[in-house]
Amino acid sequence: MIPSISWSKAHGVAFLSSLSKTESHSLPVAMSDPSNELLIALIQAETSQSITPHPYSLAEIQKYNSLSNPSTESILEKIQLQKNLSDTNVWESEPIIELVDTILESAMMQRVSDIHFEPFETHLSVRFRKDGLLIPHLTLPDWLKDSVILRLKVLACLDISEKRIPLDGRFRFRSPNHHCAIRISTLPTRYGEKAVLRLLLPQESKEDLESLGMPLEMLTKVKLIFEKPQGIFIVTGPTGSGKTSSLYAGLRCIIQKQLNVTTIEDPVEYELHGANQVQVNEKAGLHFATALRSVLRQDPDVIFVGEIRDKETACVALQAAQTGHLVLTTLHTNDSVSAISRLEDLGISPPLIADAVLGVLAQRLLRKVCPHCLGLESGCKHCDFTGYKGRFAIFELLEASPKLNHCIINDFSHSQILEEISFLKLTDYANLAVKEKKTTMEELKRVLG
Ligand SMILES: [Zn+2]
Repeated sequence: MIPSISWSKAHGVAFLSSLSKTESHSLPVAMSDPSNELLIALIQAETSQSITPHPYSLAEIQKYNSLSNPSTESILEKIQLQKNLSDTNVWESEPIIELVDTILESAMMQRVSDIHFEPFETHLSVRFRKDGLLIPHLTLPDWLKDSVILRLKVLACLDISEKRIPLDGRFRFRSPNHHCAIRISTLPTRYGEKAVLRLLLPQESKEDLESLGMPLEMLTKVKLIFEKPQGIFIVTGPTGSGKTSSLYAGLRCIIQKQLNVTTIEDPVEYELHGANQVQVNEKAGLHFATALRSVLRQDPDVIFVGEIRDKETACVALQAAQTGHLVLTTLHTNDSVSAISRLEDLGISPPLIADAVLGVLAQRLLRKVCPHCLGLESGCKHCDFTGYKGRFAIFELLEASPKLNHCIINDFSHSQILEEISFLKLTDYANLAVKEKKTTMEELKRVLG
């Protein structure tokens, strides 16, 4: 347990972050005299954890204590006070609003992608997903569970009386320093409603193909694909591997030309200026396939289909790709070659695949070694003591070629195709990055298995 800010202030130390690698990892503590063994022993007794002292000036420590979660503690005190004073709903009270705002503000400041509010028997845990990993942020007392979730539901205009079914919605959060669109989804769990917030930070949506970090040769090939008048280009990878960002980057280049670009997404996450964005609505009967059929009647040049996950969508998308449209889409497969067999599983005939597919890009995101501490075991203040800061994408591009078409039409297996066609694989790319000390072997294994 990390002691309170007032305890830290009284002892002239700062608990640098709750973002250490794991919960069992020793706590990074800022001290003006890291050799003060008496104080170290005192902190270890107070936290029941081993600590790593870091030299900071007293001024820095004071600044850190006033910045880190500045108000959470005092807000909680206010809520407690109010609760003692009256029995009315605390969720509509000023301090709860302040508490939720503080959590959102802090998430935005740290550029996290998701916030998880998870109810357990004794508490509500708040975790941030940062660079792909879930990191504990706050633990709130049990009696605050419902109020916090209610406040979130109010923000998104969700039905607050409905707690038995999953709900989803979105809202815009504005504070003096930040603003961003947030998507929320709730799920009834054993100990109450869980809420997950996806933060759609505006800056992330402005990347172009150059900023993806592809090797020049691959970038040139991908650019050529985006210039094709027809065919299908597929990006594969698990959820959160940056597939949509890559396709959006390509779409931004296309939109500058005089073309009709339509996207079909579930859900629409980012605004793409100049494109017609269609939101899939399963409840209302607007599925990917139905939306795609309607879009095809609207004279499109380029169609982005968020994801192909059923036979019908696959079939219409491939037909569109053969009849004068550039179709961009994503598939959930581990590597580029598997996309071929996935399309076959979805009922597309090998000759049609060979004819329509322009290329398959597989990708993953790996955490970057922190440039300040170069990934030292204990990290540094710039990387929240994780040794990593930010992420970069690795890619493999399987290009259409007469050789690949031969493999597809003759029903070559996954390993036969790999034998036949040589190209830079995700693992080659990642190994290169490890060699260049851009990332670590541990990170490679975590992401690629
Ligand atoms: Zn660092």
